[in-house]
Amino acid sequence: YSTAAAVEEQPIKPTVQVDHTQLLIDGKFVDAASGKTFPTLDPRTGEVIAHVAEGHAEDVDRAVAAARQAFDHGPWPKMTAYERQRILLRAADLIEKHNDELAALETWDNGKPFEQSAKTEVPMLVRLIRYYAGWADKIHGLTIPADGPHHVQTLHEPIGVAGQIIPWNFPLLMFGWKVGPALACGNTVVLKTAEQTPLSALYAAKLFHEAGLPPGVLNIVSGFGATAGAALASHMDVDKLAFTGSTDTGKAVLQLAAKSNLKPVTLELGGKSPFIVCEDADVDQAVELAHSALFFNQGQCCCAGSRTFVHESVYDEFVEKAKARALKRAVGDPFKSGTEQGPQIDSKQFEKILKYIKSGVENGATLETGGERLGSKGFYIQPTVFSNVQDDHLIAKEEIFGPVQSILKFKDLGEVIQRANNTEYGLAAGIFTKNIDTANTLTRALKVGSVWVNCFDILDAAIPFGGYKMSGHGREKGEYSLKNYLQVKAVVIPLKNPAW
Ligand code: NAD
Repeated sequence: YSTAAAVEEQPIKPTVQVDHTQLLIDGKFVDAASGKTFPTLDPRTGEVIAHVAEGHAEDVDRAVAAARQAFDHGPWPKMTAYERQRILLRAADLIEKHNDELAALETWDNGKPFEQSAKTEVPMLVRLIRYYAGWADKIHGLTIPADGPHHVQTLHEPIGVAGQIIPWNFPLLMFGWKVGPALACGNTVVLKTAEQTPLSALYAAKLFHEAGLPPGVLNIVSGFGATAGAALASHMDVDKLAFTGSTDTGKAVLQLAAKSNLKPVTLELGGKSPFIVCEDADVDQAVELAHSALFFNQGQCCCAGSRTFVHESVYDEFVEKAKARALKRAVGDPFKSGTEQGPQIDSKQFEKILKYIKSGVENGATLETGGERLGSKGFYIQPTVFSNVQDDHLIAKEEIFGPVQSILKFKDLGEVIQRANNTEYGLAAGIFTKNIDTANTLTRALKVGSVWVNCFDILDAAIPFGGYKMSGHGREKGEYSLKNYLQVKAVVIPLKNPAW
């Protein structure tokens, strides 16, 4: 694999066609009310893949009305849980059957390696839908021994119309994290995809309809945040909002929700996760894991291990080896076999990452390798490693969302705990150690929603995910996510009715 050649070769032609570019409302593909479209671009070249219907407030209104109708009068919430489960299981089977088409669309629109899309992400979506299908007929309330002569029970009911807004870094997985629990609980959905990556969710949602999902239960609106996204967040007839994206936008949607109908909001926001390499670590293994913790998905992960803390006793060896590993990273056309890293999502992120790299140099961190654009077209960036990074450098404080590893030195556990927690974020952390006491101390001391010990990015459907502090509200995945989509109704009946 030659990186230099791979970024200059003619882009490989994807083996999929773009069949769906319209909005999906009430079970039908339709144009935007305005007739407007926007281009979605190939990050390998910046060229247009397709023109996609651009949803605005009026389209969000139409989609919410369809979801409302489907919730209030349609069969979905009234169906037996077993019937809902069977439809979700059929949808998972269809997604599995169309694994490679979905993976190709994902890679084309997003730029991530096809091998990752096909072997990890679509299979993870399938697993997720099956996991939540499994929950559909196991959602039930309690019988409660309250004080007094009453029979007390709780009913767990779907909330209603769920509005969901997702980002571009894992379009299909984020689609699954959102619609899986919402549908399993019997809600109806209006989901807005990210403007950079509208294609794969339209295809996946069509498969849900083929599986027998009634019209209006799952509506997809493509469009921009300030128009379609804001209309959904502030809609008076949306009963619940789930958002994944940046912390700034998370604050904005929370305000929109509060100012409209006070709909409950779950938020999955940014991170600046520490990856802590302890003095007893096997350096080669630690380098490899820290590398993937940061560089996976072109560095575009909310939970990326973007502050690599390394104990001083192994620091120099670690830095040398981390640099060598980054130099070996295979960057090129994501459709090429063996590619580890494709282009960044778009020119805005590309420019932003290059600016952060510049700030690292200006702040006095040591640029060990990388730092430049790769090739002459598209949005490829060299795998970049900084050593000698200080806590107050911008690259150690802010979310870069790119292939830029920042290595920081530490002396003892107390110090690294304090520094790791000294951030407004609290999404995840990685720990690399052979010492169980060190692992126990760190897992309990770190103020984050996920701690991976001697592993990273283990994101199975059953494992809850979410943030402390400004990384978000609530948890997605696992049993915990069901709570986001259920109301609890307390029902009280006298044991002996006085009227009898
Ligand atoms: P963003 O938060 O602006 O976009 C995420 C989603 O929110 C998109 O669907 C977007 O259209 C929508 N949106 C934007 N403004 C909105 C508004 N006012 N009301 C309602 N919806 C709105 O993120 P971005 O601009 O695509 O990326 C910026 C930064 O966000 C990245 O550099 C990265 O740091 C971070 N990010 C985090 C995640 C994550 O998973 N936590 C994902 C993508 C980006």
